[in-house]
Amino acid sequence: MDCIFCKIINQEIPCFKIYEDDFVLSFLDINPVAPGHTLIIPKKHFENIFECEEEYLSKIISVAQKISQKIKKQGIGEGVNLYQANGAIAEQVVPHFHLHLIPRNPGDNINFTGQGMKPISKPTQENFKNMKNKLSLK
Ligand code: 5GP
Ligand code: ZN
Repeated sequence: MDCIFCKIINQEIPCFKIYEDDFVLSFLDINPVAPGHTLIIPKKHFENIFECEEEYLSKIISVAQKISQKIKKQGIGEGVNLYQANGAIAEQVVPHFHLHLIPRNPGDNINFTGQGMKPISKPTQENFKNMKNKLSLK
């Protein structure tokens, strides 16, 4: 399969590995937005969150917690952002599920609340209720 992250899993392309088990692989992003910018991926090819099996998702999030704790403990980040894109419209570039861990520090000038993240005009109470009804799982 012509997937860059599958090639990393299969060791056809090198990476700076942070963690690996039967389900997940974690490695440093080749083009970090901050020092320590880390990716966590499932070792099975799923394009995005619409497809990724729950078992893999839960492994990914628990590894994310462990690496985040390490980022903090090692003084790499005072805080950490988790970021994850699904679909071209959401600016997903690599079509293999990946969770970004982005260490955050004072003065890093990383801005998740810039132009692309501006809030929409405030929904009415009715809008909120309708949305809740549409999205509630039970
Ligand atoms: P996306 O924009 O899809 O959420 O993020 C894709 C990420 O994968 C980018 O941050 C990019 O730097 C990273 N990336 C793309 N190709 C490679 C690669 O070959 N090796 C590593 N380590 N990271 C990559
Ligand atoms: Zn893949």
